[in-house]
Amino acid sequence: MAPIYLDDKISKNDLPRRYAIGLDLGGTHLKYGIISDRGEIVYKNFTPGRTSDGGKKVLNVMAEAAHECMMFAKKENITISAAGAGCPGTIDSEQGISLGPTIHITAWEGAEIAEAINKKIHLPVFADNDANFMAFGEYIAGAGRQKQFVVGITLGTGVGGGIVIDGNIHRGAVFNAAELGHVVVEAEGRVCSCGNRGCIERYVGAKYIVQDVVDALSKGEESIITQGLKSTGDITPILIFAAAKHGDELCGRIVDQMVKYLGAGLTSIVNVINPDVIVIGGGMSDAGPVFIKRIGDEVLSRVMKPVRKQLQVVQAQLGNDAGIMGSAMYAMKQLTLDNAQ
Ligand SMILES: [Zn+2]
Repeated sequence: MAPIYLDDKISKNDLPRRYAIGLDLGGTHLKYGIISDRGEIVYKNFTPGRTSDGGKKVLNVMAEAAHECMMFAKKENITISAAGAGCPGTIDSEQGISLGPTIHITAWEGAEIAEAINKKIHLPVFADNDANFMAFGEYIAGAGRQKQFVVGITLGTGVGGGIVIDGNIHRGAVFNAAELGHVVVEAEGRVCSCGNRGCIERYVGAKYIVQDVVDALSKGEESIITQGLKSTGDITPILIFAAAKHGDELCGRIVDQMVKYLGAGLTSIVNVINPDVIVIGGGMSDAGPVFIKRIGDEVLSRVMKPVRKQLQVVQAQLGNDAGIMGSAMYAMKQLTLDNAQ
């Protein structure tokens, strides 16, 4: 990968590298690593996030992972200056505290994320929503590089989002901005975990599209997706995409539904933000360029004329590393700003 500088105006070739820890807590796993200010990943690992064991256990897992990075750094003679921690849900990034519950982690409201990690590594810790850090990672080192208005959306177990404007994460009045998975696409639609109805997430989230296929099969619809599977519990989004590609009617319909709802929801976001680029990441973005192109075409067919020639809808470039990259890069940037004050 080409060198990445936090500040492109300064050549840092001759300066010593700086390093930060990046933590990225997902629905099931915690990814973590050490990133340099050139965007080099010098250490990377992952562990089960223990998200079903409750907030306290999750904080322990995160603190231990950060400590593991510190031990590696010590062995390699690397000086780490800060850590960033991307987590699900609404995160008060000033206090480093989780403000609300999330379906992925029990007892998550009020979890003191930054403090728990800081106690273990004794360095500044910056906590934020995981999709905010994904969008920041793509802004600083990925598909949204050099762009003024970047929208990132993560398609996984849930649907997350992040908005970066002029290099700053847009968080809103109570840190609840960019909840792109909860943009409403059906006013009287399916009940969502957020308390509303008809959110994008309910039509395109991984577990919901799997459920859609299982429901259709249980009603007697036929599909090639069941071939070679022991039970419908083994159905995954990747299998749904593969079956759709082979012309399977049921799976094709589910993918069409995803494209339609994502296209409609993203168009609403475009009409509010008018971004330079929409970066699509998360596990399901691995469905490939044809899927991303279909979403882009759907959005472009719906947006207003001035936007059509300007808007880019692209796949995330940093893949699974966007979260750790974004959180570590953000921590380094914020530390520099804090020190300058
Ligand atoms: Zn919702």
